[in-house]
Amino acid sequence: MSTLSVQNISVAFGGLRALRDVSFTVEPGQIFAIIGPNGAGKSTIFNAISRIYDVAGGAIRFGDRDLLTLRPDQVVQSGIARTFQNIELFEKATVLQNLLVGCHGRMQRNLLAEFLFLPAVRRGELAARRKVEEVLDLLDLQHLRSERVADLPYGARKNVELARALCAGPKLLLLDEPASGLNPEETTDMSFWLKDIKEELGVTILMVEHDMNLVGRTADRVLALANGEVVAEGTVAQVQADRRVQDAYLGG
Ligand code: ADP
Ligand code: MG
Repeated sequence: MSTLSVQNISVAFGGLRALRDVSFTVEPGQIFAIIGPNGAGKSTIFNAISRIYDVAGGAIRFGDRDLLTLRPDQVVQSGIARTFQNIELFEKATVLQNLLVGCHGRMQRNLLAEFLFLPAVRRGELAARRKVEEVLDLLDLQHLRSERVADLPYGARKNVELARALCAGPKLLLLDEPASGLNPEETTDMSFWLKDIKEELGVTILMVEHDMNLVGRTADRVLALANGEVVAEGTVAQVQADRRVQDAYLGG
């Protein structure tokens, strides 16, 4: 079981301090939500953990690993998968093909075509297929398995993106705005998927989310961010009642 520990990290872009001295800890098995107005630095936290952005000072540890010494692909291999604020899927491939690619997280994009047309004799193929079936069942995607991603409605594509991240078999899943663009009914479905992922697969979830409905239904713990700084941390109720959080939203 691995704890994610972020300690006093700062990220700057030229003169702009996107994050200042941000610290928080995600315990194994938690759903941990980061909330905050647009531009608060939420996605930047994900990019710091993923080693896409450089961090000035501080530490990020996952279990016994120091993430700041790893390359982005090594972060993935340490058991951290993510989705993006804008969906990134292979549009012309089917749901099944996208998930199989998710099982091979280290594969280069230009190997995709080769991989998809190889006879199914690859080593590891069987394990990958089992994982894909498990995820298709869990997220109720079996009926869409042969559909092209480009032909799916937006809500279903969000679900496929979530499924693809799960196929990598992560211990920790980073979700950037899983409810964005979803209608209320789809958002309710998403809250059930997230709880299933936590309870049935035992995957820890760190998410960035605007939708307080989803956060209220799912999050064990919430961190509120404004202007790159932590303004509050606690349970959903504690953070919602916090005067500084209300000010950050209303005054922002
Ligand atoms: P959020 O996800 O909370 O809406 P972001 O983390 O995307 O906010 O951005 C925080 C701040 O950092 C914003 O002012 C944004 O413009 C800036 N920022 C983020 N990424 C970059 C980048 N690659 N280059 C320059 N500025 C960036
Ligand atoms: Mg963002």
